[in-house]
Amino acid sequence: AAAGAALDRLTRVQADFPIPGVLFRDLTPVLADRDALAALAHALAGAQPDIDLVAGLESRGFLLAAAVAMVLDTGVLAVRKPGKLPGDILSEEYALEYGSARLEIHPHDVPDRARVLVVDDVLATGGTAGAACRLVRRAGGIPAGVAVAVELTAFPGRRALGDVPVLALRSWA
Ligand code: 5GP
Repeated sequence: AAAGAALDRLTRVQADFPIPGVLFRDLTPVLADRDALAALAHALAGAQPDIDLVAGLESRGFLLAAAVAMVLDTGVLAVRKPGKLPGDILSEEYALEYGSARLEIHPHDVPDRARVLVVDDVLATGGTAGAACRLVRRAGGIPAGVAVAVELTAFPGRRALGDVPVLALRSWA
């Protein structure tokens, strides 16, 4: 309840960012608030039981994922944009409104059968979180849940994630 109230109070809504026509929810004021960050981390950490590893999606998801991992006493899996990780990687492409994007992980960072909680700030189409879940599966882990601060209900994010349970602390149209 505290986390949802903090999101309501502190999220900045910015019209026409990053491109005209997009109503962008800026969570940086929430992250900058000590009590709000703690409330968010604890609420997201309760998404699913028995989590072994928290996956953070570059870049905004990194900030929340590390806080959630501290609560759960796990490590974090860096789910990165292309070209950032050296050595052995797995790569997954996903569709954007125009074109496509890719995410990458180090598969060796995922222990066999590890239950992984995928954390991001905002869920929209589910493309980003879906690609992260596929990466976890390909690396031998189990995408146990997706936990986000905000889901935007104008997009079919939950549907895109299939069987993976989604926790959103706020659902906004
Ligand atoms: P999706 O892949 O679900 O369509 O979009 C989610 C990704 O885009 C997330 O990584 C999220 O950080 C970013 N995103 C999309 N819309 C917003 C928004 O309104 N605010 C913020 N902070 N991120 C957004």
